[in-house]
Amino acid sequence: MATPSKTYPASCHCGAVSFTVTVSPPLDDPAQAVVHCNCSICTRNGYLFVFCPGSSIRFDKGEGDMTEYTFGPKRLAHYFCPTCGTSCFAQSTDPSAFGDVRGVNVRTFHDVDLNALKLKEMDGKSM
Ligand SMILES: [Zn+2]
Repeated sequence: MATPSKTYPASCHCGAVSFTVTVSPPLDDPAQAVVHCNCSICTRNGYLFVFCPGSSIRFDKGEGDMTEYTFGPKRLAHYFCPTCGTSCFAQSTDPSAFGDVRGVNVRTFHDVDLNALKLKEMDGKSM
């Protein structure tokens, strides 16, 4: 049986960046968990990550308009809307590290009850 999936519409706050993400299994599946991390960037951005291959993200608009931010060893590139500042996703800058996997910010998803998500705490601060 194929793993179930669900496609979520998502966008930044102002709507300049708009996309859909197909998450497998869906966010309400007990096998899925959203990563809540305590590192410096996750704390500031309020990231709630779900990890998906780049092919599961389809941009309606704004893909090339996002601003990229890297820091420290620059292993991760963070993408946010330059107009409203919403943090949309993060991606490894080293294709050999995590391939095309993106950490997508579930806070950009429409109509998702954030309080119902199963969170997986990550101690990124110590990594
Ligand atoms: Zn925006």
